[in-house]
Amino acid sequence: MPNRIPLFIDGEFTASESSQYIPVTNPATQELLAELPFATEAEMEKAIESAKSAFKKWRDVPVSDRARLMMRYVALLKENHDALGELVSKDTGKTFADAKGDVWRGIEVVEQAANIPSSMMGETVENVANNIDTYSYTQPLGVCVGITPFNFPAMIPLWMYPLAIAAGNTFILKPSEQVPLTVMRLIELFVEAGAPKGVLQAVHGGKEQVDYLLNHPDTKAVSFVGSVPVGKYIYKTATENMKRAQCMAGAKNHMVIMPDADKDRVLNGLVGASVGAAGQRCMAISVAVFVGDSKNWINELKEQLSVVKPGAWDDPKAGYGPIISKAATERVLGLIAKGKEEGATCLLDGSDCTVEGLPDGNWVGPTLFTDVTTDMAIYQEEIFGPVLCCITVDTLAEAIELINASPYGNGTSIFTGSGAAARKYQREIEVGQVGINIPIPVPLPFFSFTGWKGSFMGDLHAYGKQAVRFYTETKTVTSRWNYDEEAFKQSDQPNLT
Ligand code: NAD
Repeated sequence: MPNRIPLFIDGEFTASESSQYIPVTNPATQELLAELPFATEAEMEKAIESAKSAFKKWRDVPVSDRARLMMRYVALLKENHDALGELVSKDTGKTFADAKGDVWRGIEVVEQAANIPSSMMGETVENVANNIDTYSYTQPLGVCVGITPFNFPAMIPLWMYPLAIAAGNTFILKPSEQVPLTVMRLIELFVEAGAPKGVLQAVHGGKEQVDYLLNHPDTKAVSFVGSVPVGKYIYKTATENMKRAQCMAGAKNHMVIMPDADKDRVLNGLVGASVGAAGQRCMAISVAVFVGDSKNWINELKEQLSVVKPGAWDDPKAGYGPIISKAATERVLGLIAKGKEEGATCLLDGSDCTVEGLPDGNWVGPTLFTDVTTDMAIYQEEIFGPVLCCITVDTLAEAIELINASPYGNGTSIFTGSGAAARKYQREIEVGQVGINIPIPVPLPFFSFTGWKGSFMGDLHAYGKQAVRFYTETKTVTSRWNYDEEAFKQSDQPNLT
């Protein structure tokens, strides 16, 4: 009997009553890791009821005690860093180093949650009129919801519930149905850290379970990370239901290579950013835009990419792991075939890739296209595989125009030796996260994760101060106190000392 993943409702890990279970498999071997239930309506309702009832008490727990819960959680996560990394590798097939990075980037957000009191401070102005002061508080919203993708099983759930809960909310997580092992361990550690009953719930499933959360009157805010079509649907449905929503979605990220850049840094950065994690990162570089003579480096890029091999999570020589599923692999291979059909030149083709000892893994080798044009499917679609498209232009202005025409705006980078070129790029580019001589510019948690355009729906972004604002509402108090010494002496004031 395979391991059946429990739900986490009302402080208990409970077996679901569902009759619908799906297999969870290791993408490097197809080994059956577990079976995952799609929660029943009664279970969804119970989770929401428990979160709603827990909110009444949790909102009154002093903010410094809420922060202390996060401090204990940080310590436990750090103690379990390697073990969590192994689970991420099992869930996704990521290399161990990459998997530990996934956990670490999540821990950094919990560290921010442990500093919540200063992020929750309001504003004050004294004496806005005679004897009248105005001040504001930030108060939690109630039951918040998180829906997460497969590609960062530790980091992305940790973008959400620690901050929401530290801010005084309760939280219902609907993790990716493809990678449930890591998240269940994250929850066990949260319980061990002292999380009170009902503050966090985990329900499993797909569209039906998400719809239940989106349409329920008692859920107040929805954080989503995943693909563009699902993000748009969730944003529309949540906001139609008058809920707050922030949806971090898919991308097509460009790196601009100026001829005055440091060639070794460019090639090294491009290789890691395009095929690292098998290209399954929302900040992966999927388009290299060579300006002027930098195009002469494409052959060397091909040489460097051709020595990168996918492999097992614990093989130190593996450059990256498998694609998450058979279906996703077919999609990536289909797009590679389409690129060739549409007339791009495939300088390096990873379609026929095998890994010794792991014949059943979802392997795709590094793939490099040149002569790519913006009307091709390999340019327009997020491939989410180890595939890099090269485009050549004559000037920086042309590169900027090309990238600004893209419907996505998650991340971008420029490699150059010129401060002036870098400054022009950072000012003019319509993308929310810009790297200068840095290929993947993901901001640390005291900033926010600020994708733009089609890569983000909403206004307040993930983590950082913006997330604290997302998970709280501002209350402004205007108060008048006239102090009259004589009246005070004569009144029946209690002795307060
Ligand atoms: P996905 O959209 O398929 O799934 C994400 C979540 O949505 C899962 O929990 C899934 O169960 C749920 N879901 C799927 N279909 C649904 C539907 N029809 N209605 C309601 N819910 C549904 O995404 P994925 O394949 O797990 O993740 C990869 C995608 O996530 C990529 O597009 C990637 O760029 C994006 N991503 C974005 C960011 C970011 O911060 N912008 C970060 C990581 C990943």
